[in-house]
Amino acid sequence: MNTTMRNTHRLLLGAAGLIVAVGIGSVAYGATTNPSPAAADEVATVAVVDQGADPTAIAVSVEALSATDADGILFMVEEEKLARDVYLTLGELWGTPVFTNIASAEQTHMDAVFGLIETYNLEDPVGDNAIGVFTDPELQALYDDLVATGSESPAAALEVGAVIEEVDIEDLVDYLDGTTAGDVTAVYKRLLAGSENHLRAFVSQLERSGVERTPVVLDDATYSAILDGSTGSASNGGGRGAGHGAGQGRGGGWAGGRGGGRGGNA
Ligand code: MN
Ligand code: MN
Repeated sequence: MNTTMRNTHRLLLGAAGLIVAVGIGSVAYGATTNPSPAAADEVATVAVVDQGADPTAIAVSVEALSATDADGILFMVEEEKLARDVYLTLGELWGTPVFTNIASAEQTHMDAVFGLIETYNLEDPVGDNAIGVFTDPELQALYDDLVATGSESPAAALEVGAVIEEVDIEDLVDYLDGTTAGDVTAVYKRLLAGSENHLRAFVSQLERSGVERTPVVLDDATYSAILDGSTGSASNGGGRGAGHGAGQGRGGGWAGGRGGGRGGNA
């Protein structure tokens, strides 16, 4: 299992940078003046819901959340927002239905994480932030990069979608490894199943336009299992039929550092 915790967004920053290097020239980094989220080592305190004078009311106590879970929840809500906001923006730009469809799924993912934020009395890092505005400066920079890249062409936009889902999957697998809380696990698993579906959707759209992609974040075996629908986490409808043939590079650039393309299916 993957034991690398929560630095995948840094990985994605690298991946996005490589895409940008191929796709476009310059990238403007938006500054954000939002305050930082709660300190990472802050452990959520016990939440007590006071039901007032009702004698039948019970004080609902929630077990203290681990610092890892608090950290994960606060990061994931903004990572889901990043997916939603990128897809809304690129969907509007290109008029591609896959983006608007998946954006609404990302909204439900955000809502699921908001539920955990409420349960554990965490400080919501999203608040009234508009589309494209993030508290986490790395996610802010990433959003700006990804939108710039995805604005180059419809195919670049689909590739951006696939990269976002790969990172989402990697992060969720790490967070799942690091949690023992049942409610947190349930939410992460739901988000993971959604991400696998989304990755299949983006890859399938790319293939329809003749683009054969290779993973930029996930390892080949994991990537293949997801595309084949054989990870067991998705409630998806079926696999990918004939599979993805011979791996081929994208003509240079951003796949570098991953050690080459993938072979055909066994
Ligand atoms: Mn999602
Ligand atoms: Mn997704």
